[in-house]
Amino acid sequence: MALIVQKYGGTSVGSAERIKNVAKRVAKTRAEGHDVVVVVSAMSGETNRLVALAHEMQDTPDPRELDVVLATGEQVTIGLLAMALKNIGVDAKSYTGWQVAVKTDTAHTKARIEEIDGDKMRDDLKAGRVVIVAGFQGISSEGNIATLGRGGSDTSAVALAAALGADECQIYTDVDGVYTTDPRVVPEAKCLDTITFEEMLELASLGSKVLQIRSVEFAGKYKVRLRVLSSLQDGGNGTLITFEEDENMEKAAVTGIAFDKNQARINVRGVPDKPGVAYQLIGAVADANVEVDMIIQNIGSEGTTDFSFTVPRGDYKQTMELMRNLQDSIGVADVSGDDAVCKVSVVGVGMRSHVGVAAKIFRSLAEEGINIQMISTSEIKVSVLIDEKYMELATRVLHKAFNLG
Ligand code: ASP
Ligand code: MG
Repeated sequence: MALIVQKYGGTSVGSAERIKNVAKRVAKTRAEGHDVVVVVSAMSGETNRLVALAHEMQDTPDPRELDVVLATGEQVTIGLLAMALKNIGVDAKSYTGWQVAVKTDTAHTKARIEEIDGDKMRDDLKAGRVVIVAGFQGISSEGNIATLGRGGSDTSAVALAAALGADECQIYTDVDGVYTTDPRVVPEAKCLDTITFEEMLELASLGSKVLQIRSVEFAGKYKVRLRVLSSLQDGGNGTLITFEEDENMEKAAVTGIAFDKNQARINVRGVPDKPGVAYQLIGAVADANVEVDMIIQNIGSEGTTDFSFTVPRGDYKQTMELMRNLQDSIGVADVSGDDAVCKVSVVGVGMRSHVGVAAKIFRSLAEEGINIQMISTSEIKVSVLIDEKYMELATRVLHKAFNLG
């Protein structure tokens, strides 16, 4: 007998019928002899609806009150799921985040979990009950309802699994696992049996939307065994996120490919080559609360240097303006940019033991006439910035080049 935490996302609880299906799935796990703690999201679309309502009241909704409103979505689904379980003869009890209690800091709408009190849940489990907990919410150190950021119920589930020492945390969603790339772009994309935690973290931060990135970080920190599965389909073991590289010595160089259109490139050319200029330029961007992703600096001619960096597309105009404002005071020759770019990233822990991965990427893109504007690498990743019109082609070509299909 194991203790399993199961998390069901918005689509999985998107209608009365689907909630009944979730109840059946939970009942089945229970019938196999396991203890089950269930974490649910709000019904799909509900959180967006609540956000919109709040914005009708105030242009910038009061954060404390916004959380009061946002947390209601999950409160509905926990109650409904408890009823659905009782209706098929399974004893269950629902809890909001504050009832458990999931204790957080005071950063409303993006609170971090600090501590979870597991006593109530343990008592219920001992009494043979299924415990249902509202995802995405907790109680702040000031005693207010706090939410964890969009997609936060993944993090709730992982945190509960860590606090209870669960044997496995299963994230049920509308895809049947983690794919080599988005199957809507590459129909040959394959569902992976396993992926390492490091790879999952890279893919999550590079634009794969399967898991909230914070939940992956949490799982890594507390060594939670995490599995992604489909709630809409029966059978299949989904994808297990592992901590060790595969026993399998023949591990391929590449595990998956991610792409991200939320990119814009800024070029600052002919910057005086002296200490402090990188700080002056990038520091100004950071002060404006704009997140810088790729950065390249290279020696130019005659005591000057050139910078290229990328920012989220929504911050492009503001960042260009910032650079133009600094142009005179720093003595920059030229500021230019492009917001029709995308980043394609090739990820795999196997890269550590394979040579020539980057060369193969560049050759594959060259053969299609795709120009690479920027390159960045880590131990387990190579990212290229290219014209956005080639995003799908590049992804397909690389998927094929590394035999991922
Ligand atoms: N309901 C929240 C959201 O839509 C939390 C979640 O679904 O994970 O962001
Ligand atoms: Mg979600």
